[in-house]
Amino acid sequence: MANKNECGTLIVTGASRGIGAAIANLAGERGFSVAVNFATGTAEAAAVVEQIVSAGGRAYAIQADVAREEDVVRLFETAERELGPVKALVNNAGITGGFSRVESVSAQTLAQVMAVNVTGAILCAREAVRRMSTRHGGTGGAIVNISSRAARTGSAGEWVHYAASKGAIDSFTIGLAREVATEGIRVNAVAPGLIETGLHAANGAPDRLDRLAATIPMQRPGTPLEVAEGVLWLLSPAASYTTGAILEIGGGR
Ligand code: NAP
Repeated sequence: MANKNECGTLIVTGASRGIGAAIANLAGERGFSVAVNFATGTAEAAAVVEQIVSAGGRAYAIQADVAREEDVVRLFETAERELGPVKALVNNAGITGGFSRVESVSAQTLAQVMAVNVTGAILCAREAVRRMSTRHGGTGGAIVNISSRAARTGSAGEWVHYAASKGAIDSFTIGLAREVATEGIRVNAVAPGLIETGLHAANGAPDRLDRLAATIPMQRPGTPLEVAEGVLWLLSPAASYTTGAILEIGGGR
């Protein structure tokens, strides 16, 4: 285990459960001071903080809706005040908007999905760059955006609108990586395949993982920890020459 706070402060959005919670836990073990962001899951976020702290790490829970600019600014200010200078960001918070063919999707669903998945990620990255870029007096850092294999498969018949929001994340990752490449900041994405989280049941399809397992070359869904391992590698100095990459963690799918 690395020395505590050796790696500086990492903000993980949507870290109260699922993939975000796994990233927060592993980051705590690897020496990051972790800002555990959540939208509504106060008790769940507190449990993640408790897990990190009881394992000897540093963590602090911060409620903020990433779709709201004032919340994002407060998230970064609070993380810095409670844990120290921000050195890393994982844009993990995401929603699907539910299953819908394109001809049935509402403008409200579209607005919500784009606000959380795209605007939220870009606003968080903006705050991170303002603090980490050498152009602004910072000392550098790393950003990992959680995309999805849906960005490439398109998710026909399920949630094309969600897939499109993740396509935007891929473009944003490539563009921002190139924009800040000489400013000490690396920007990458992880594109998970089907991962065992509550997301599927929450969308009314608790059997989705079992149903689709046969379509995955490895014949099984992945775990949040298997995604977190990729994220932590991209955040680490071991990935020092990797920027603008989209790392697929999908069992071959
Ligand atoms: P999840 O279990 O549904 O958890 C989503 C997390 O995002 C929760 O912590 C939730 O917080 C948070 N969140 C939602 N809206 C938010 C907002 N407006 N502001 C701040 N936080 C918000 O999802 P997951 O399966 O772990 O997915 C995490 C990421 O991986 C998402 O970006 C998702 O698109 C992506 N992904 C997932 C899969 C998969 O198969 N599971 C595959 C590919 C990509 P609260 O609980 O507090 O509301």
